[in-house]
Amino acid sequence: MTTDFFNKKDSFEEQCKKFSELLELSRPVSEDVLFSAIHDEEYARQLIINKRIPSKFMKLLRNPPKVKSNHKSTHPHSNAELIKSAAVALIKWGKSGFTKVDAKTLETRENACLACPNMVDPGMVIQKIIPSHKISNKVGERTGKHICDLCGCQIHKKIQLISENCPDKHPELEGMTRWHEPI
Ligand code: SF4
Repeated sequence: MTTDFFNKKDSFEEQCKKFSELLELSRPVSEDVLFSAIHDEEYARQLIINKRIPSKFMKLLRNPPKVKSNHKSTHPHSNAELIKSAAVALIKWGKSGFTKVDAKTLETRENACLACPNMVDPGMVIQKIIPSHKISNKVGERTGKHICDLCGCQIHKKIQLISENCPDKHPELEGMTRWHEPI
C-alpha cells in the first residue's frame, strides 16, 4: 500500500478502483456500489465478508441498496469532495477490517469534537447528502449531523472508526491530536 493510496484528490472513478482492490476484484466496482457502501455500513461490511463467496458476492454487487432519492440526486458530481472524503474513510476502514474503537476511546474522541471550533453545522448543500442522524445525550450520538470543517467528514461516523485520525493538533499537548492520540 502506498502512502498516497487514500487520496481525496482521486476522482470518484479512481475511488471505485481502490474499493475494488480492497474487494480483490479485477474490475472497478460501479459508482452505485461505492455510493451505497458509503451510506450503508452493513452493505460495505457484507461485501468484505463475502468477497470470497462468489454467489453471495455477485448478488451484493448486482444489488446495491438504494440510497434515498434526495441523497442520490447529488451523485456523483455535486458535493464531490464530501463523497470522496467518505469514500476514503470507507476504504481505510475496510483495510482495517471494519474495526471500531472501544467505548472509552469513542467518548474521548466525541468529547474532543464537541469542544472543538472545527465542529460545524453541515450547511444546506452538504446536508442534502447526509442521511438524517439522531442527536441525543448518549455517547456516539451527541454530535448529530455535525461535520469536521477540516476534513469534511461526518463526526458521528469518523469517531467510531479505528482507521480515522483527528486532522488537528491538540492546542496544548505537543505531538497529540485533539483526540489525545499521537499525531
Ligand atoms: S475531528 Fe478533530 S478537528 Fe475535527 S471536529 Fe473533531 S476534534 Fe475537531
